[in-house]
Amino acid sequence: MEFNTRCLQAGYEPGNGDPRQIPIYQNTTWYFDSSEHMAMIFDLEAASPFYSRISNPTSDAVASRLAALEGGAAAVLTASGQTASFFAVFNICQAGDHLIATSQIYGGTYNLFAVTLPMMGIEVTFVDAEADLDELKAAIKPNTKAIFGETLSNPALNVLDIEKFAALAGFAGVPLIVDNTFPTPYNCRPIEHGADIVVHSTTKYLDGHAAALGGAIIDAGNFDWLGQGDKFPGLTRPDSSYHGLVFAEQFGQKACYITRLITHLMRDLGAITTPQNAFILGMNIESLHVRMQRHLDNAQTIAEWLQNNGNVAQVYFPGLVSDSQHERAAKYFDSPAGSGVISFDLEGTREDAVKFLDALRVARIATHVADARTCVLHPASTTHRQLSDEQMIEAGVSPTMIRLSVGIEDISDLIADLDSALKVAFPPQA
Ligand SMILES: *Cc1c(COP(=O)(O)O)cnc(C)c1O
Repeated sequence: MEFNTRCLQAGYEPGNGDPRQIPIYQNTTWYFDSSEHMAMIFDLEAASPFYSRISNPTSDAVASRLAALEGGAAAVLTASGQTASFFAVFNICQAGDHLIATSQIYGGTYNLFAVTLPMMGIEVTFVDAEADLDELKAAIKPNTKAIFGETLSNPALNVLDIEKFAALAGFAGVPLIVDNTFPTPYNCRPIEHGADIVVHSTTKYLDGHAAALGGAIIDAGNFDWLGQGDKFPGLTRPDSSYHGLVFAEQFGQKACYITRLITHLMRDLGAITTPQNAFILGMNIESLHVRMQRHLDNAQTIAEWLQNNGNVAQVYFPGLVSDSQHERAAKYFDSPAGSGVISFDLEGTREDAVKFLDALRVARIATHVADARTCVLHPASTTHRQLSDEQMIEAGVSPTMIRLSVGIEDISDLIADLDSALKVAFPPQA
């Protein structure tokens, strides 16, 4: 099946007389007619849902749909994007281990890696994504267990050189984990470029309707865990909580990583999605290909329009030929636009930017991106409001920077809205 068909049909194949739509299994437990059958399930000798903290058929179907879209072998849904990044790492890293991550990543992931993982005894080295391969190799340690990056970084819109980081991971003998939230599999499939594990905040375009928080982890099934000696004991050594079972031997290279994640991290930490949220996600993915193309087209038109507006100092958008990220975006993304997100600096002051924002009527202020409705944020008034203008410039955010997440409304309404708000902030001279 081609990509668009997979958005609608992958992951769920109804039998004769079954519901056409993925049904919501709104139950926590399952019935079995013998305790022996139940015992086999607990020993992982028989596969069946039995308790919704560990798995649920609604979320399993949607996870399979995402695996089909990313070209992966196995997948699982999580309660949030934050959980997806945490579980993807924690499934193969424990106290005493080391992780390498690029510093150009989402703020929430940065906190998770810089503050919370060290509290658990996992050391993290942040590297400059633009460093060359030899410089990056210097960050590898004997206890390095994974490398993490973001395909299109939120909010700086830097494009990850996936092949360079896949080469680094290959050199270290560890998997490359990438967050593909912004381009979505519609516009980028990192596994085709050498990524081993893909994570998502499905809260963004995959849901796309500001309706359901969620995350996903997809394993390509390409990483040879057993080939790395004792580096990944959770997968290659006997597991004492399952009678000495060895995950990589019992479930094979394609399924062992996700199976362990479900049977250990979901079992013990329980950050699973709800059946309702999984259902909403699955239904919204049915229109991913239609929505994403409109996001990309609208954002491209608006970025070009902004670039030609005298009150706009600078536009950051990989779809612009003049953008520093354009060439790499054209290599890794089907559309170099990347996503529907644009950053731009206005002329004038912090106060002018606030006037502009408050005058918008179609684009609405929200702590959100990647929604079907256009939303907009002024970092200087929100996420970076404690900083002085000088400190903000040091942090790479200008006092007049606007982050615009372009929705799928009529382009004429969006441009008219931006135009009239710019005229409020910068009244035309009589
Ligand atoms: C929003 C976001 C996350 C965190 O996802 P939540 O669903 O909010 O937990 C992770 N990575 C990226 C790139 C994001 O944009």
